[in-house]
Amino acid sequence: MFIELVDALRCPVPHEESWLVAAAVRMEARHIVEGTLGCPVCSAEYPIRDGVVDFRRDGGPVATTHVASDAELAMRLAALLNLADAQGFAVLLGEWGAQAHELASIVETPLVVVDPPADVVGAPGVSVVRSDGDVPLASGAARAMAIDDGGDSRVASAVRATRAKGRVVAPVSVSVPAEVTELARDDRMWVGERGAAVSPLVSLHVRRST
Ligand SMILES: [Zn+2]
Repeated sequence: MFIELVDALRCPVPHEESWLVAAAVRMEARHIVEGTLGCPVCSAEYPIRDGVVDFRRDGGPVATTHVASDAELAMRLAALLNLADAQGFAVLLGEWGAQAHELASIVETPLVVVDPPADVVGAPGVSVVRSDGDVPLASGAARAMAIDDGGDSRVASAVRATRAKGRVVAPVSVSVPAEVTELARDDRMWVGERGAAVSPLVSLHVRRST
C-alpha cells in the first residue's frame, strides 16, 4: 500500500468518516508492506500483509481466480478513465484489477485495486485492497473509478468515492447510477461522469397565494 494513499482509506464500519492511523512494521520504497491500519472511531484494526490492506471481517485466503490481462482493454481503460497525468489516483474494482499492471505500464496515475483476482499483486503504482463489498475510500477521493457488478451497495459506495467530474466506467450489467451522466456505451461497458456533489437536502420553496 502506497503510503500517500493511506489518507484516502476509510473504515468500512458505518460511522462518521475518519482517517485511519497507520503503523508500519516494514516499508519498501514508500509502500507499507507489513503493518496495521487502526480506526480511531471504532478501534477496529486492519492488517497490511504483503502490501495488501485487508478490510474483511473474516480475512483468509482469496478464492483462486485468474482473469487474463488484455493490452487493448487496458488502453481503452486509460482513455475512458481519462488518466492523462499522475494527479490523484484511480480505482479498479473486481475483475478490472486484472488490467492493473498493464494499465500501470501506460499511465502514471497511481492505481488502487479493490478485490482483484487472487493472482494480482501489489507493485509500485498498484496498491491492493481487500473488502467485504463496499469501497473503503473517502467520499470524492478517487479521480476515476472502474466499477464491477458487485451489487447496489458496492456500486453506491464506489460512486460516492469518486470526485465530482470524475470518470466512471462499468459493465453494461450495472445500471447507470443517478449521480452519473452517461457519456458513451458499447455492448460491453459504459462510461459516464460523476455529477457535482449534491447537498443532502434540497428544499423547494413554493410561494402560496392566500
Ligand atoms: Zn471504524
